[in-house]
Amino acid sequence: VPAPHRVQNRQIQDEALAGKVQGLIEGTTGFFNTPDTDPDLAQNRAWGREILAKMQDSSLGKDLVSSHTIHSSSELDEAIAMGVDAAAGWQALGSAKRAEILHRAGQLFEERRATMLEVLGSECGKTIDQGDVEVSEAIDFAHYYAQRGRDLDSVDGATFVPSKLTVVTPPWNFPMAIPAGSTLSALAAGSAVIIKPASQAARIGAVMVKALWDAGVPKDVLQLVFVGERELGTQLVSDARVDRLILTGGYETAELFRSFRKDLPLLAETSGKNAIIVTPHADLDLAAKDVVQSAFGHAGQKCSASSLVVLVGSVATSRRFNSQLIDAVKSLKVGYPWNPESQMGPLIGEPGEKLKRGLTTLGAGERWELKPEQLDDSGKLYSPGVRYGVKRGSEYHLTEYFGPILGVMTAETLEEAVAMVNEIDYGLTSGLHSLDQDELAYWLENIQAGNIYVNRGITGAIVQRQPFGGWKKSAIGAGTKAGGPNYLVGMGSWTDAPVTE
Ligand code: GLU
Repeated sequence: VPAPHRVQNRQIQDEALAGKVQGLIEGTTGFFNTPDTDPDLAQNRAWGREILAKMQDSSLGKDLVSSHTIHSSSELDEAIAMGVDAAAGWQALGSAKRAEILHRAGQLFEERRATMLEVLGSECGKTIDQGDVEVSEAIDFAHYYAQRGRDLDSVDGATFVPSKLTVVTPPWNFPMAIPAGSTLSALAAGSAVIIKPASQAARIGAVMVKALWDAGVPKDVLQLVFVGERELGTQLVSDARVDRLILTGGYETAELFRSFRKDLPLLAETSGKNAIIVTPHADLDLAAKDVVQSAFGHAGQKCSASSLVVLVGSVATSRRFNSQLIDAVKSLKVGYPWNPESQMGPLIGEPGEKLKRGLTTLGAGERWELKPEQLDDSGKLYSPGVRYGVKRGSEYHLTEYFGPILGVMTAETLEEAVAMVNEIDYGLTSGLHSLDQDELAYWLENIQAGNIYVNRGITGAIVQRQPFGGWKKSAIGAGTKAGGPNYLVGMGSWTDAPVTE
């Protein structure tokens, strides 16, 4: 029976949820998105307070991390060999049986939602609302990929041959949803997996993997590995027995991995420098809200974040829009996630050189409307910053900083605004706020980004509804999108069916 904190949402009845998962397993229920927790309901807030009380002292997953840390090259070599050996059995199990296990994993994620939120907050600084959508996304990935895995059997005239061993190297910024999604996609397609969670998000990675084991994924089919030294990480991603590598991370990391192994079968979602364009035909109130959410959710530490807003024509001088924007940013409560008031949490660590520059240094013609301030001695807590006057071609225009900074640019026309956005090397997400059909048509035709959103924020892609992935320097070896119908196709190769009479 689902926990009482679940909200009735998207036409899903709480009581029916368990039955629906059974329906997914039996193939009688179609995919549905899992509802998030509704904070307007008193019982959900009480549930949340229990999580917050444990968050600060949480050590969940610590034992798993230490017991799965590899310290020698030979240990890692054995793990890789074990993964390759386990692949045949997992493939032979068949897609229906694999799907059943993965649906159960989705159910376990749901049952352990509170635990996941505790670890996401304590380890990665995620507020409950930011963590909650991640858990929902992970559940969606489980059910969605389980179903798509079954589809691979029913393609006429060709046979799908899964990769044997997939290595997953996920990021720390979506430390539940992305590791889960990458792992589940490979498992659903029939591949064995070694996952090496990011060191900043080790405990949540371990807790997620434990749920998959508990659901029935054998421990040799899915191995959890942390590496004691950097060289071991290099060894893992360079080993020729690895026939698929799923990376979500910076573009430079993808380049580094490719320098280790030229023929690396890489599927990578990389960096983004994303913008929302606001035209005079926009609902300006809605635009201000969406810009703030997209820029400062999880302190801007999302590949999908909007770290630029381009104001077209009269919006540039609109008192209404600009004062609403600044007031909204100023009103954000910054703090640690175990404080129920916090809306924007800390950075994952002290800012590196690039982010430090973004937080402190202005380019020519720029000015701070809100200057980011360091709020305590941890070095991780910053107030949100807004800089005006960002010039075309400047460092701020073209660089991904991955932090709580929004840059404001202005353009005379929509055409100019689109050209400014397209000048950026990356193309992950992009947004338009306009209620004008002609503007929309122009933007749709010309904007260069993988995920495009109209009159909505540009983060928080939803499985199946908004398959997620970029182009230009935001994706490598892809062409398919996470949470979309073709993602599993990239998890192996296709042969023509044997010719029969
Ligand atoms: N899928 C996430 C979103 O739509 C972004 C993932 C990322 O930042 O890597 O917001």
